[in-house]
Amino acid sequence: MDFSFTEEQHRFRRDVREFLEEESEKGALEVRSNYFIETSSPEFSRKLASKGWLGLTWPKEYGGADRSYIDRTILMEELMRYQAPLMYHFFGERQIGPSLMHFGTEEQKSEFLAKIINAEISFCLGMSEPGAGSDVAAVKTSAREEGDYYIINGQKTWTTHAHNADYVWLLAVTDPEGPKYRNLSEFIVDIRAPGVEVRPLYNMIGVHSFNEVYFDDVKVHKKYLVGKKNKGFYQMLAQVDYERAGIERLMQNYPLFENLKAHVRNSPLSSDSLVRDRLAQLEIEFQVGRLLVYHVAWVIDQGRIPNYEAAVSKTFCTLYEQRLGNMATEILGEFGHVMPGFEGTPFKGDAAESYLWSPSYTIQGGTVEILKTVIATRGLGLDFKER
Ligand SMILES: Cc1cc2nc3c(=O)[nH]c(=O)nc-3n(C[C@H](O)[C@H](O)[C@H](O)COP(=O)(O)OP(=O)(O)OC[C@H]3O[C@@H](n4cnc5c(N)ncnc54)[C@H](O)[C@@H]3O)c2cc1C
Repeated sequence: MDFSFTEEQHRFRRDVREFLEEESEKGALEVRSNYFIETSSPEFSRKLASKGWLGLTWPKEYGGADRSYIDRTILMEELMRYQAPLMYHFFGERQIGPSLMHFGTEEQKSEFLAKIINAEISFCLGMSEPGAGSDVAAVKTSAREEGDYYIINGQKTWTTHAHNADYVWLLAVTDPEGPKYRNLSEFIVDIRAPGVEVRPLYNMIGVHSFNEVYFDDVKVHKKYLVGKKNKGFYQMLAQVDYERAGIERLMQNYPLFENLKAHVRNSPLSSDSLVRDRLAQLEIEFQVGRLLVYHVAWVIDQGRIPNYEAAVSKTFCTLYEQRLGNMATEILGEFGHVMPGFEGTPFKGDAAESYLWSPSYTIQGGTVEILKTVIATRGLGLDFKER
């Protein structure tokens, strides 16, 4: 197996890094852990679009560059090094666009794809509800047919960046009497439509990155039903492997890791055998995680759905990110608990913030327990049997 990048890929990485270095010098980037997920910047997304770096893997007929997932991972790796603000285009470019290409009507494709790739519109994902997360097929939000429209009622929760989005990609019940998994459909809903209300949720750091979204008799034209009615659950499954696959699951705290290594290198801690051991262990885990992520990209480039591989990669990478947050606060001692804004806070409070962010890493996009079930069943063939 050849683990090396091609000359063209090295050149691409250098181009991206050069661009980010310039942006950083201009003050357009704030290199701080978790900044990427906290921040939506239409301006920055449009800069990436103008470089042709949105929709890198999309086919040319939809405005993409038809390049490989390895290339996309190179791009994302460099963007994550700088924690570039990506949330404005993130969901649209990563999974909504590809879903529309697969399941959308020609009218939907021409209405949305070009706008996504040019960073003119932003999407959020309306799947989870208070009683439906891991078991997302338990959603209660309903879409009732009435003439040319569906009438939507219900509540979504943990909806990341709904407060910055133009549209919500919604999973709703279209056949209340139908069997589980075969009673759901996907819709595109204008977030400013009458009856939609977005309410902020603050995480324990005090950051507003997700929301509750309420739907009260919201009228959605039937042309915004995506794919086949009552097949929404199966359509959604095709999306989640791509959601789990990316290098952002490994590098949300990359600035913290770099700062921590530099801090130890330049202090007497560099002679402490326990600290040396811990940092070396983190380095091993980071390198293994990176290989897993590139392996997933390679699997996608072979034309396969990275079901089991993405579950392995996301589980490993998110647990590594948690251990990084834990170890950073341990190594820094009492300074590791100081939040941003206080005098003497190491690394702008990255350690404390990462520690507080870290429980969510193993929940969002599928919990570790669910991913291990995917690995056990799809990877290892361990089906449940009658005892
Ligand atoms: C930061 C963040 C951002 C998010 N953004 C979005 C978003 O944009 N859009 C969206 O729709 N959702 C979003 N989510 C929601 C996320 O997808 C759910 O939180 C996740 O799927 C888990 O669902 P839950 O919270 O309902 O927990 P539950 O499903 O209730 O799980 C609770 C616990 O039980 C365990 N468990 C559940 N079922 C099983 C089982 N069968 N076997 C073993 N253990 C099990 C879980 O692993 C977990 O430990 C986000 C979540 C977070 C933390």
